[in-house]
Amino acid sequence: MKNLPRVILKSGRDRSIKRYHLWVFSGAIKKNEGHPRDGDIVEVYSNSEEYLATGHFQNGSIMVRIFSFIQTNIDIEFWRSKLEKGINFRKKIGMFNSTETNVFRLIHGEGDQLPGLIVDYYNGVVVLQCHSVGMYKHRVLFAEVIKELLGNELKAIYDKSESTLNTAENDKLPKFLVGDVETAFVSEYGNKFEIDFRKGQKTGFFIDQRESRKLLEEYCQNKKVANVFSYSGGFSVYAARGGATLIDSVDVSGKAIDLARKNMRLNFEDQEMHRYYSQDAFDFFRDSSEKYDVIVLDPPAFAKHRQALTNAIKAYRRINEAALMNIASGGILFTFSCSQVVTKDDFRTAVFSAAANTGKNVRIIHQLTQPEDHPINIYHPEGEYLKGLVLFVE
Ligand code: SAH
Repeated sequence: MKNLPRVILKSGRDRSIKRYHLWVFSGAIKKNEGHPRDGDIVEVYSNSEEYLATGHFQNGSIMVRIFSFIQTNIDIEFWRSKLEKGINFRKKIGMFNSTETNVFRLIHGEGDQLPGLIVDYYNGVVVLQCHSVGMYKHRVLFAEVIKELLGNELKAIYDKSESTLNTAENDKLPKFLVGDVETAFVSEYGNKFEIDFRKGQKTGFFIDQRESRKLLEEYCQNKKVANVFSYSGGFSVYAARGGATLIDSVDVSGKAIDLARKNMRLNFEDQEMHRYYSQDAFDFFRDSSEKYDVIVLDPPAFAKHRQALTNAIKAYRRINEAALMNIASGGILFTFSCSQVVTKDDFRTAVFSAAANTGKNVRIIHQLTQPEDHPINIYHPEGEYLKGLVLFVE
């Protein structure tokens, strides 16, 4: 085994790593040996020089992202076995067998013990997104292995790390690691979507809302629906499929609204009941005189880090107040938070305050989270980032 740089922890700071937590925070480190640089593979040791784990080093508040608790060679075989486990898990839970759905997550970072790596599957087009320098350095190797593992199913592999990592020096590198396709057309529960994986948000689509979108469909027969923070119209398409009589899609991004319009056209000939607002959500609610039977609120992460928590909770309260003021009596509100640092309890408290402040009688009828292809590593509770409540508003 080759000599890797070492990260030595302070006394007592090995406890969380012994419980398989995947992050080493800068404050836990006593010293580094061997001058590790961003993206290097390092071994983590306790204060008494006991081997604990292997991971990627990166300067910042999370200094090491762990991908192994066994001291072993980190070679192509190691990565192949990791990726294979992730893909086989999706096979086992039936993701590859569905006749209706061909869009899902193949690798979910910490959830697959591969922190810093996201891989999404769009009907044969694979989009890879690295959130750490270490994972980025292996992207060509990952592409080779994924190509081998997916065989004929694969049409292309695209690297979309541009928006998550500062890869200025790598800007000229090819984005297609395998093949080259113009666009991807997918089916989710039989609904059609075109995926803008080059310019779109995240890897192109919010795959994590699949089951919530499906649930929304059941509540839309003859209803007036507002899909606020609509992005490419995911919830809007399901609302239309469910028999809504009016669907307002709202997103501050004009590009997102264009995508939403495109996706609605892809599924439905009749466009009369679909309206689009490229507008800030707060302004939309302020200006709207409509009382909606169903509202979907799926804002972007209001808090990206802990310092922003208080303001984020306030923002969740305010946006939920605005929605509750615009909902008809007997209406249904689908409300979400995708901020990792906002806990289930924080979010529920924010929605509670919104209900109390608007004087509404509210019942919680569903509690939602991310679907099975976005698994939560039990040793890494931070992975439970998506929280949703479905409310019945009297
Ligand atoms: N529900 C979507 C995903 C929403 S992502 C789906 O199922 O695909 C969050 C969206 O909120 C993004 O498209 C972003 O452009 C939009 N957004 C961000 N800030 C906003 C604001 N202040 N008002 C309205 N939309 C906003």
